[in-house]
Amino acid sequence: MKVSKIKGTLDYFGEQLNTYRYIEGVAKEICNSHGIKEVMLPTFEATELFARGVGEGSDIVSKEMYTFVDRSNRSITLRPEGTAGVTRWFVENKMYINPGLSKYFYVGPMFRYERPQAGRYREFRQFGVEAFGPGSAYLDADIICFADSFLKKLGIKNVKVLVNNIGSKQSRANYEKVLVEYFTKNIDSMCADCKNRLLKNPLRILDCKVDKETEIMKNAPKISDYLIEEDKEYAKSVISALDALDINYEVDEKLVRGLDYYTSTVFEFIYDDPASPINGLTLLAGGRYNGLAKELDGPDTDAIGFATGMERLILVMNELGVAPVLDESADACVITIGEVTKLEGIRLTNYLRSYNLKCEIDYINHNLKPQFKLSDRIKAKHVLIIGEDELNNGLIKVKNIETKEEKVIEVKNILKEFNKEGNEYAYKK
Ligand code: ATP
Ligand code: MG
Repeated sequence: MKVSKIKGTLDYFGEQLNTYRYIEGVAKEICNSHGIKEVMLPTFEATELFARGVGEGSDIVSKEMYTFVDRSNRSITLRPEGTAGVTRWFVENKMYINPGLSKYFYVGPMFRYERPQAGRYREFRQFGVEAFGPGSAYLDADIICFADSFLKKLGIKNVKVLVNNIGSKQSRANYEKVLVEYFTKNIDSMCADCKNRLLKNPLRILDCKVDKETEIMKNAPKISDYLIEEDKEYAKSVISALDALDINYEVDEKLVRGLDYYTSTVFEFIYDDPASPINGLTLLAGGRYNGLAKELDGPDTDAIGFATGMERLILVMNELGVAPVLDESADACVITIGEVTKLEGIRLTNYLRSYNLKCEIDYINHNLKPQFKLSDRIKAKHVLIIGEDELNNGLIKVKNIETKEEKVIEVKNILKEFNKEGNEYAYKK
């Protein structure tokens, strides 16, 4: 019976996995320098966490979740995003007891039932950052700056940074009222999703990809006209902090983000290359979610975060030719001549491995031809040959594949060939 992978999932290996680990490494390094600590949380949670946290009106909850009933009749959901889980953990573990700001990151799989296409999968991975603690426009700008330098560190330069402020609850309530009035008048000509959103999440209409270019959408009331004074000031401070940090951004009043928990500052990083088929792909997105901890029965805690899709980063890095080259070459291949030398060869191989040298040996063949074939296959930089003569006299033949230089040396000095220091080696025999 042939079993294939589930639609929308990926098998990671070779170059792609190498790039994935590389991105993860860069993420960990930059998080460390920002004092952002790693968390690794469950990949499934109680369904109500996402229903309450992400919000019933969001696309994620209304049509993308992998939800099932487990054997004890609990409704479980494979996590579609990371913020709700991190906030659940933050509240459950009373992490808010620590004064000031606390910052966390995660890397791991997320699950959404979406229509698979380039950069869109049903199982995908996100690197995300969440910062809990007193809200500050400086912090918002600093988080955007972090995201910007992270992408630049990966060599991803063609990126548009969009920012907006969707206001506190009060501003949003004012704005949503006006928005509902406006769109109610025009809803007949709009798409089915928009009709739905009008009742459930009117702000999301602005995010519609179908009706994006229509006059109705272009003439829609603007959030900035409905922000309360305090929110206006905050938005201004974020902008001047971004200027001070030399971030190249655009204010996009249509940027609202799809998750219900967002408040105040929101931002997106978009791949920007008009000649590319993936032009306009969102690489990274985030914002403030000041109400979420309280929504999950924790204390009222301000928070901001973002997430970026690892698959989309890999896609763009491949397109830009900035993905790291996978080095599959080995330091050495040990080749033995005659039967008695094989075990000595295996001993030597493991001695070299203990000094972190990548070294292999053919366990089966005693003939030279297949052993050299292995050496080619593993792209060995050195071939180390042990014959009976070498064995009896404490010697080894060393062939440098690149320079083609061949020499016979004392086996006790073999590490020096690899510019390493350590205990001298001796044959057992
Ligand atoms: P989109 O509008 O592209 O559906 P979103 O608003 O649903 O994105 P978020 O929930 O904010 O996205 O997730 C943050 C990031 O995670 C996205 O910018 C993207 O890089 C990545 N991402 C989201 N959904 C997927 C998916 N199905 N496959 C791969 N990556 C994804
Ligand atoms: Mg989506």
